[in-house]
Amino acid sequence: MEYQDWLELPKQTKDKNKKFITKLKNKKPKNLDDMFHEKHEEVFEDIDCLKCGNCCKTTSPIFREVDIKRIAKKLRMKEPDFIDYYLKIDGDGDYVLQEAPCAFFDEQDNTCGIYDFRPAACGEYPHTNRKNMFQILDLTLSNTEVCPAVARIVTELEKVTNMDRKLPRTRD
Ligand code: SF4
Ligand code: SF4
Repeated sequence: MEYQDWLELPKQTKDKNKKFITKLKNKKPKNLDDMFHEKHEEVFEDIDCLKCGNCCKTTSPIFREVDIKRIAKKLRMKEPDFIDYYLKIDGDGDYVLQEAPCAFFDEQDNTCGIYDFRPAACGEYPHTNRKNMFQILDLTLSNTEVCPAVARIVTELEKVTNMDRKLPRTRD
């Protein structure tokens, strides 16, 4: 499937994915982190962010103070000027980009102009390999509509857990 198709999929399977995430929230599997991390590795072996760039095109990372300091310094800008020029405060009180696509994103080749000193949140996206996935299940669900890798991870996990349920019980 093409990346765009994976992004279309959550629109068709929205209810199914929501049900799956609710189920995980109601009954946390012991190996939830392992389930996600294993799929994350598998899916990112196949998906190349340089052929996608959808997160940089459509959403904004959070810029923490330490990010702002570092990036402004590298760009030889004063911090208040950097904030005025690129950032705004969102509903949660965090600094985010004024607009999307990100001002540092190059649409020609999907690269980041500040890659080596980009915000930490950019390096962590889409968060499917972090600890305590249970805490970010809602975020993960909403990321299925932004990131084809997350769409694929959630869709495939839903299928696997469904298959597990259908397997006949084995005798001990
Ligand atoms: S800073 Fe770089 S990685 Fe982060 S959103 Fe902008 S272009 Fe993407
Ligand atoms: S993290 Fe997801 S949305 Fe961002 S470029 Fe990679 S595959 Fe695309």
